[in-house]
Amino acid sequence: MKKINKICFIGMGLINSSLARTLKKKNFYNISVATSRSKETLKTVKSLKIVDAVESDYKEAVIDADLVVIGIPVKAYENVFKKIAKFLKPGSIITDVGSVKLNIIKLVYNLIPKNVSFVPGHPIAGTENSGPEAGFDGLFDKGWCILTPKPKLDKEKIDLVKKMWEVVGMKVDIMDPAYHDMVLAITSHIPHIIAYSIVGTVSNLETSLKKEVIKYAASGFKDFTRIAASDPTMWRDIMLLNKPSILKMLSLFKKDLATLEKAIKKEDGDFMYKLFSKTRKIRKDIIK
Ligand code: NAP
Repeated sequence: MKKINKICFIGMGLINSSLARTLKKKNFYNISVATSRSKETLKTVKSLKIVDAVESDYKEAVIDADLVVIGIPVKAYENVFKKIAKFLKPGSIITDVGSVKLNIIKLVYNLIPKNVSFVPGHPIAGTENSGPEAGFDGLFDKGWCILTPKPKLDKEKIDLVKKMWEVVGMKVDIMDPAYHDMVLAITSHIPHIIAYSIVGTVSNLETSLKKEVIKYAASGFKDFTRIAASDPTMWRDIMLLNKPSILKMLSLFKKDLATLEKAIKKEDGDFMYKLFSKTRKIRKDIIK
């Protein structure tokens, strides 16, 4: 496969800055340019030396880029795609790292020129931290990346994006965007809802009880606080754009929660033992 000449990163937070770090190390391109909304982030990116150039103007950043990687909150896509669309190089590829797929494709597909290929992507990797300083080389190592291109898209274009994620250590799957959103709703979005909600419950407790909870937070609650420390803008946008899949999965979850509540009320130890053994096995299978 031909080496990429110019790559452009739009947004330089945790994900794109991690990608930039590893791609630089792997010598994946000839020239890299990054742009971000704020001067502060651009200043930080420049000082980190993880790209060849920073550019405050979206237009200047994308000009002549063979591959553009969008790494911003999903509700911000439409506005940014409107700014860059007519400056994208004919024959180039645009991809993204957003955690929701179907609705962002619907929002931006018609904004992209016909001679530019859109290969939506989602690397399943991350931490609760944000910004370019939170990024690190190795974030994507051994994780999965899901691509959700239109079925008729040129295979060569899909392969190039696939190659980029493989270069940074990921295994790549191709998936239908609606299916992606359903899978991620249960594996990532609902766990975040639970964490935001339980930590929110603690924050509403009366002051003395809250102090005790924080003091004695064993690993269970502490794990929830880590997840609930995730970026509020990013997660608000995910909830807004993946609403249908999230609501479907949330109703399944609430049904199962009500069943467990009933078992506790009835002191049905057998039910609880069976459920907790089944979930323990799932954990073991995941670790394996
Ligand atoms: P992040 O660290 O918070 O960085 C966000 C980036 O987007 C920054 O460059 C920020 O610019 C820019 N930005 C924020 N609001 C914007 C707006 N309204 N218009 C234009 N640019 C804006 O974010 P991240 O964690 O890298 O997440 C980026 C994307 O990756 C999201 O779509 C998210 O769904 C997806 N994702 C995240 C994770 C994760 O665990 N974090 C995992 C997989 C996928 P300034 O700093 O200049 O303001």
